Formats: sequence, C-alpha cells, structure tokens
Amino acid sequence: MPAPADPPRHPALALPPRPKLRRGLWALPLLLSLVFVAGVLLWLRASEQADLEEQRLALVSDALSLETQASARIERETLLLKDVATRLDQRGAGAPAPALATLPEAQQGLHRFWISLTWIDAANRLVAQLPDGPDGARSGPGLSAHLSAPLASGGTLVARYSPGEMLRQTVPWWLARKYDVRLLDSFDAVIASTTEDRPIDGRQSWRISMAPALADGYLELVARDVVPRWYHGLPVAMVAGFVALIAAITGMLRRQMHGVSRAEAAWRTEAAWRQAMEDSLTVGLRARDLDGRLVYVNRTLADMVGYEPHELVGLLPPMPYWPADSHEEIMQRHLRNMAGQAPREGYEARWRHRDGRLFDVMVFEAPLVDARGVHIGWMGSILDMTERRRLEERERRQTETMAHHGRLTMLGEVASTLAHELNQPLTAIASYNAGVMNSMHKLPSPDPVVMRALTRLGEQAAHAGAIVQRIREFLTRREPRLEPCTLNAVIEGGVALLRRELQRQQVQVVLQLDAALPVIVADAVLIEQVVINLVRNAGDALAQRPGERRIVAGSSLSADGRFVRIDVRDNGPGLGGLGIEALCAPFFSTKVEGMGMGLAICRSIIEAHHGVFDATDAPDGGALFTLTLPVNLAASELSAEDAA
Ligand code: ADP
Repeated sequence: MPAPADPPRHPALALPPRPKLRRGLWALPLLLSLVFVAGVLLWLRASEQADLEEQRLALVSDALSLETQASARIERETLLLKDVATRLDQRGAGAPAPALATLPEAQQGLHRFWISLTWIDAANRLVAQLPDGPDGARSGPGLSAHLSAPLASGGTLVARYSPGEMLRQTVPWWLARKYDVRLLDSFDAVIASTTEDRPIDGRQSWRISMAPALADGYLELVARDVVPRWYHGLPVAMVAGFVALIAAITGMLRRQMHGVSRAEAAWRTEAAWRQAMEDSLTVGLRARDLDGRLVYVNRTLADMVGYEPHELVGLLPPMPYWPADSHEEIMQRHLRNMAGQAPREGYEARWRHRDGRLFDVMVFEAPLVDARGVHIGWMGSILDMTERRRLEERERRQTETMAHHGRLTMLGEVASTLAHELNQPLTAIASYNAGVMNSMHKLPSPDPVVMRALTRLGEQAAHAGAIVQRIREFLTRREPRLEPCTLNAVIEGGVALLRRELQRQQVQVVLQLDAALPVIVADAVLIEQVVINLVRNAGDALAQRPGERRIVAGSSLSADGRFVRIDVRDNGPGLGGLGIEALCAPFFSTKVEGMGMGLAICRSIIEAHHGVFDATDAPDGGALFTLTLPVNLAASELSAEDAA
C-alpha cells in the first residue's frame, strides 16, 4: 500500500523537525534484543567453558584415583610373586621344578590374575612353567604384560598377566560408564582398553604415567560424554528464532511508527491551523461538558471577559464573568441551556469583565458531539455586542438628527409659505389704509382721532409686513450650493440612510443605476433629501401592502446626453390619478400625521436646479416619481457665478 503523502504545510505553520533520537526510537527494541541475545550467547559460552573445566577436573581426579588403584593392584601382584620367590628360595637351592606348582601362592596368583608363571634359571633356561603347556592356551586376546621377581638361588620368576583383565577388575562400573579407560605404551599403542578402540573426536582425555608399577605404560581416561559446544543445541536455535522474530516485529514497528509519525505530523499541522484560526476569530468560543464545566475557551472569549484561558477552564457555574446581581436569573438560563432548550437563534446576555465593566453579548449554543456521535456537552459562540450597540446608537442618533433637520426644513417651508400667503393681505391692508387716509385728508376737517388711528393702522400693517418679510428671508431655503456630484453615490447614500427603517417595514429596495452616468454639478445634500423623501414616501405607501414590497430606484442618462434622470418607483397603491400639482400643493397629505410639505419642498429643490419634477401612476401599478436635472446646468450657472 503506498504511504499517504504528508499534508501540505503552510510555511508559517512549519513544525520543528523531530530529534533524530526520537525518529530512531523504533530500533530500540531490536538493539536491546541484540544486547540481550549477545548476553545469552556469552552466558552459553561461559557455561560451556565451566562445563569443560568441571569435566576436566573430574577427569583428572578420576584418572589419578584409577591410576593409584591400578598401581596398587600391580604392586599387590608383584608382592605375591615375590612371596612365591621367597618360598621357592626357602625350599633350597635344589628345589625341583614341580615344587612351583605346589606353592599355594603360585596357585592363588594364577587363579586371580596371572596368565602364566615361569621359572627361569640364571642362565635363562626354563626351569618350570605354570600352567603346563603352551602360553597361548591361557593368554586370551590382547597384549600381555609381566611381573618378575629374582630368586636368591639365581634365576627369575616371571608372571604374565593380561592388562585388559587387570583393567576390568580395577575399573569400577560407574567409572567405566563415564570414561573409555585405556592403557597405552610409550608409542601410543593401546595395550588394553575397557571399550573398543574409538576415536577421541574432541572428547576430553587425561593421560597419566603408570610408572613404576607399569614401566613405559600410561593410563588414559577419555570422557564418554562430549560437552556440547555452546553454539549447538536448543538455546541457540531459540535465540536465533527470537532474533528473527524481533527483527520482523521491529520491521512492523518501524512501519507503524512511521504511520504514527505521519499522523502526528498531520495532527500537529491541523492543530496549528486550528489554533491560528481560533486565535484570529472575533467570535468567542467556549465548550462545556454536560455538567456545565468549562472544558475549553478560545483566546477571544478569554480576552472578552479579562481572564486567562487556564483560569476559566475547569470552572463550574457560577462563572466569574456573571454579574453579581443577576446570578439567579443567569443560573436559570444556564439550566435551561443545559437541558438543551437554548433558543436556536441565540439569546442576549450581560456579562461582567474582570475589571467590573458590564457588556452585552449574543450567545449561540449548539450541541457538542464527539467522534462516535455521543453528545458530550455544549459549544457556545459568543459575540460581543458592545461595538454593534455603539454603531446602532450612532445610527439612531443620526436618523433622529436627520428627522429633526427634516422637520426644521419643513417648518421653514411652512413659515415661508405662510409669509408668502400673508404678504398679500398685509399689502392690501396697507393699500386700503393709504387710500382711506388720502380720502380723509381731502375732508375739510378730518377727525384727528380717526386720522391717528389710521396712521397707526398703516404703521402696524407695514410693521407686520416687514416682520413677515424678515421671517421669509430668514426661513427661505438656502440657495443650492453647486459642486461636482455623482448622482449614483447620492442615491446609494440616501437609500443607505433609510436602510433600517425599510428593513423594519420589510421593504426591498432595488437599485438600477447607470454606471455611465456623468458627474453633474448640483447640491448633493439637497438632491439626497429629495431621494430620501421619495423613498420614504414610497415606503409609507407600501406599509399596508400584503406580499412583496418593492421600491426600485434608478438613474439614467437621456438619449441626447443632456439630462440625467432619477426614477423612484414602488409597487404600492399608486397616486389614484392625482397629478404633480395636486401632490405638491402645500399641506396636501393623506397620512394621519402627514404635514403635506415634503413633495412641495422636493419640487422647489429640483426647480432651483432648473430641473423638472413629475409624478404619475406607473403602468404596472404603484407610483412613479421622476426628477430630471440638466447635465450642463452647472457649467452655465458656474460660469455665470464666475463672471459675477
Ligand atoms: P406627507 O408625506 O407629509 O404626507 P408629502 O408632500 O411628502 O407629505 O406627500 C403628499 C402626499 O402624496 C402623501 O400624503 C401621499 O398621499 C401622496 N404620496 C406621496 N408619495 C406617494 C407614493 N409613492 N404613493 C402614493 N401616494 C404618495
């Protein structure tokens, strides 16, 4: 099976190479086994040496003891022969030859041991011989040896005996079982042996001289048992088998360890990746066992609550980051979560940082399942809501400020309209007053009281007119502040400001912007206000609509390239046939809390840009508001301004 390739490693996550010693660890059992085997072999060898030495010592001691016994035996026979010689001598010099046979000692010797007894006179002539007849009749197989004893009368007694018989009689049975016992002459020729002649063949032997009992004779003991060589026999075969087995096991161990090493390397890489990912998460993670004990927290969570991960791991509720005053409530929630009833969409909680600061978190709980699919606890992801809350708060304030500005603008428009509407009656009052006063002057005696009253009336009317004029001047919208303006960005900005409001109303806004729109020169803030007003109106119109609520805001360039156009279309109830004039009439509103000034202001702004504002019912239902602005307005306006 091909070895699986190592997983790819990111250079930043490269692991330090493992020490050589650890990499070669698989060979350790083999080495130890070889040391053990060497020890066993040495022990076997030493044991063999000890056995050999023991056998040698026993051999030497047995040889000495046997030699002593054999020599003593020969000595005894020699003494007996000497006794025979002495008796012969006692019979006198002329003892006849048959006298030899009558000697009991001679008969005893022959009976026991001797093959023959020969009497030779001083001239070496045979005097008598026992037994009578040729020697060969009693000599038997094998070589023979002889003993001699001199006679005082001259001559010699010679007794022949069989060394083989001597050995048979002298060597005890237990020694004969242990050794081959041989008698050798000085030329290594075998004189007698307890066994058939066998080669020594590495057996231990010991040779000892038999002198003086047997001149030129040697006694040799050859051990029958051969001490087996240390490398022969079962132990060495077992050791060899053991080494082969260990070698095979080591091979398997090596493969296994390589596999484990690869798995470990892969695991360490994966762990490093996971650690890096966990550390880079902005979401806090915590794992708890089924008792609610924290078994893991990531760095983000630890930082969130101001503790070190090791300070948190192992803790049971109540946790140190629970606010002291709401332990009971949090404990209830904890028990609910442990029972697996945590809301799937998460829940909000308030935690306490180590420094005492409280902060809001969003917690999502999920079951923690091990590799065998057993539910072993809960994994929680925790989002710190502080930043989000801050942004929401800022957005809310911005919206409020915008609404406030909108109301102020509207109020200004109302006041401006009022001023415009009041101007005429005040002018009329002043004119009538002037006419009446002229008529009164023509009278011969005008009533001074009436005249004063009329003068006062005129003054008050003029004063009221001046006040109205001043208010009008003060509240009249500022003139457009013209500057290069990217309409698409203006539309996107306006829609973005209403994003939350529209989300709440569940209205979907689709932008269809012409990317090739030229940059025009306009007051971006005012145009944005128009867009906001139109989109907000469309949102209000859709509020009661069931089903899909959609607003499409688009931009386009006219065919001749001289005008840009913004459309705001909705799929609401439409305008019910009302035209732009009716809709833009001051204070026209169908809403309960509507002021009815929004569209009027929009038209004023567009017209101030020399554009056209229009509204119709869209062909497929809903309302369509359109504003068209000249592309080159700015050039003419600016050049006029520059010239001024
Ligand atoms: P307000 O919003 O305070 O009512 P506006 O001048 O902005 O004042 O709008 C005047 C009226 O025009 C609204 O009350 C509403 O009846 C009508 N209107 C404006 N936009 C739409 C629209 N998209 N669909 C239907 N009617 C609309």
